[in-house]
Amino acid sequence: MSDSINTDLATDTSLNEALDRANEWYNNNWSSDLVLSDWWQKLGTSGWAFPAWPHKYGGQGLPSSIARRVVADRMQREVFGPRTGIATFLAAPTIMTHGTHEQKERFLPGIVTGRDVWCQLFSEPGAGSDLSSLQTRAVRDGDEWIITGQKVWTSGAHFAKYGILIARTDPDVPKHKGLTYFLIDMQQPGIDVRPLREMTGESAFNEVFLTEARVHDDNRLGDLGQGWAVAMTTLSHERDSNNPGVGGGGGTLFSNPDVTTTVEHFRSIQHTEVDAFSFATSGGITDVLNDLVKEFKCGNDPVIRQRLMKLHSMRETQKWTAQRAKANARAGATPGPETSTLKLQSSLTGRVVRDLGFDIIGAYGMLLGKDAPAHGLFHKFALFVQATSIAGGSDEVQRNIIGERALGLPKEPDDSRDKPFRELRVGTQKTQS
Ligand SMILES: Cc1cc2nc3c(=O)[nH]c(=O)nc-3n(C[C@H](O)[C@H](O)[C@H](O)COP(=O)(O)OP(=O)(O)OC[C@H]3O[C@@H](n4cnc5c(N)ncnc54)[C@H](O)[C@@H]3O)c2cc1C
Repeated sequence: MSDSINTDLATDTSLNEALDRANEWYNNNWSSDLVLSDWWQKLGTSGWAFPAWPHKYGGQGLPSSIARRVVADRMQREVFGPRTGIATFLAAPTIMTHGTHEQKERFLPGIVTGRDVWCQLFSEPGAGSDLSSLQTRAVRDGDEWIITGQKVWTSGAHFAKYGILIARTDPDVPKHKGLTYFLIDMQQPGIDVRPLREMTGESAFNEVFLTEARVHDDNRLGDLGQGWAVAMTTLSHERDSNNPGVGGGGGTLFSNPDVTTTVEHFRSIQHTEVDAFSFATSGGITDVLNDLVKEFKCGNDPVIRQRLMKLHSMRETQKWTAQRAKANARAGATPGPETSTLKLQSSLTGRVVRDLGFDIIGAYGMLLGKDAPAHGLFHKFALFVQATSIAGGSDEVQRNIIGERALGLPKEPDDSRDKPFRELRVGTQKTQS
């Protein structure tokens, strides 16, 4: 079987067989009295944390259509899900696709069991949409690389153990060609993480200053100078809201829970303590919106009903796009326009939910905090949702991808494409003579 995540279609027999096996395992092992880290360890080593992942890396090797049903069934049984985050939905699939056998053996067990938190060191002050203009340098020193530069908007860096990093290893070739991808230890003296405060009042992301930080060449992911291609794998997973590494049911995407508490206790405080970033990306808003409709008794309001049905249709269309993306992935096509369409759809859906929710709760929209409707969860979502049009590539950038790769429009003019990076006027190079 391939090392990458399986996306074949299901049959009824194999679905029932997978559900039976999963349930047997839950019946014998699940208890909400377990300590959180122990439960994640058990679940991770059982193969049921991410059932679409290959067997040898902690999954069950199930086709993703079956795996999704197994996860949905687990959530219905209220069995707590695995720890999710950048580790599971970005680092793991990228390592599975590009990693050496040794790298997979070393990094994947800590990810699937929720032991190791990861962050993504891509964006820089002068390189977000134009990511290939990044200036963080990696200079070879024997068996190691010395990394110097600044990253920004690095979600979860303040509690991450490792980071997926792109850095420039050759400034004398065009910008896309001189990049290399590394797996870096975040807990070392050369790395200074400074949290940023967002409009939600929370600090989910950070500035990260790298000053002669070190990474061993064994932790280079992919070949020297191939960082752009490896980064494209990461970004295609980031744009896919149906990514099997999101997992469902854990809801711990960017928060840093006390793993020594019991699952039961964590679950009881999760609703009130969850951060806006984790809640907005957990999918939990669907239930919250349904609860608000009931609480504010507007299920018979003809205008609200129309808007709820419009929202439902948008979500159904999203599912179709996701299936198409999966079918293309099976056919071996490079992910691109479909995942961009999906990402645009989900940021639009988020804004529709936000506007509808505010109209349902009316003047209560002015409240903030745990006393607000739905324990303030709707407000957390509403304040955060703007970010979904930016994170993982802005809406405009997704439209450019669709324009060029789906509609066949001419590429955006870019006279920097073939020039050596050193000669470009980007980032701090703009001010140099
Ligand atoms: C919540 C959140 C979490 C994030 N987490 C991480 C993380 O963990 N790790 C990480 O590396 N990054 C992270 N990011 C950063 C994110 O990837 C960047 O913000 C994003 O790629 C946009 O880059 P920028 O902010 O530099 O904006 P810019 O690239 O400066 O863009 C500014 C504006 O110009 C528009 N624009 C730019 N280029 C074009 C173009 N060619 N055509 C049309 N319009 C254009 C953009 O759409 C945008 O509206 C996060 C961002 C957010 C919001």
